[in-house]
Amino acid sequence: MPSVKPPKMRPYGRAVMRCLRCGTREAIIRKYGLYLCRRCFREVAPQLGFKRYY
Ligand SMILES: [Zn+2]
Repeated sequence: MPSVKPPKMRPYGRAVMRCLRCGTREAIIRKYGLYLCRRCFREVAPQLGFKRYY
């Protein structure tokens, strides 16, 4: 019998999410699977086609 334990649940929560760009944990937007903070999202958004955001 392989003693493989089921993988533990990943810690979900705001504190875990980090901005991929600057690494901050504040105001992370993962709406579109971007995982970017608010600032970085505003900078990257136009390049991704979210020109109308904000
Ligand atoms: Zn950022």
